[in-house]
Amino acid sequence: MRIALFGGTFDPPHRGHLGAAILAAQAFHLDKVLFAPVGVQPLKEGRSTTPFAHRLAMVRLTCAVDTRFEPSMIDSPRPGGAPNYTVDTLAALRQQFPSATLFCLVGADSFLSLPHWKEPHRLLALAEWIVISRPGSPLNDLTTLKLTPEELRRVHCIETMQDDVSATGLRRRLAAGEDTSGLLPPAVATYIRRHGLYRAASGSITEYPAEAAGER
Ligand code: ATP
Repeated sequence: MRIALFGGTFDPPHRGHLGAAILAAQAFHLDKVLFAPVGVQPLKEGRSTTPFAHRLAMVRLTCAVDTRFEPSMIDSPRPGGAPNYTVDTLAALRQQFPSATLFCLVGADSFLSLPHWKEPHRLLALAEWIVISRPGSPLNDLTTLKLTPEELRRVHCIETMQDDVSATGLRRRLAAGEDTSGLLPPAVATYIRRHGLYRAASGSITEYPAEAAGER
């Protein structure tokens, strides 16, 4: 079994996430891509995010487009709001799937920040890495990461994608009431509209509708 962890804030999940997962699944013959919304992203700590349950519900809708894609709760919020570290998530996945080939799927911007992650060398030992190109994050020079030749062999770059869609840009567009067609999976766009997410005053979203987690 070949399984990739695809962690992210997914606030909201968008065309870039889907494109990355589709390319990776094809190129590396993945059986499963686990879309795991993160409770608290350590490098984005302090930034306010849409409640986890909404992000999970949107990830569920996103995953419905491909049978290889599965929503995962493995990175759900920790007690006391502690940050979720990918090294712990990958270690947990390894325990859950002892004989699988594990991959970690990331965009180039995330991978280039690897030195700031907890235990970068262990991260490279726990999984093979699939890195998807992203505008503004060149992959031609990975020397700043100071990886050993053996670690570098576990890093696989897919440089054919250049999609500058981002969740930050989408949140801005949605708040401004601008067109987002083509940037979001249609079911996610509908979900956002139905629940009034990302409106200009969306900082006030504190309540989570009971039906949302199971919504497809
Ligand atoms: P934000 O703008 O809120 O920081 P984001 O668009 O980067 O969010 P995340 O949910 O933080 O989305 O990303 C999850 C993973 O998907 C990260 O590894 C990120 O690099 C990758 N990713 C997101 N968008 C793209 C894209 N357009 N191209 C390639 N990789 C992407």
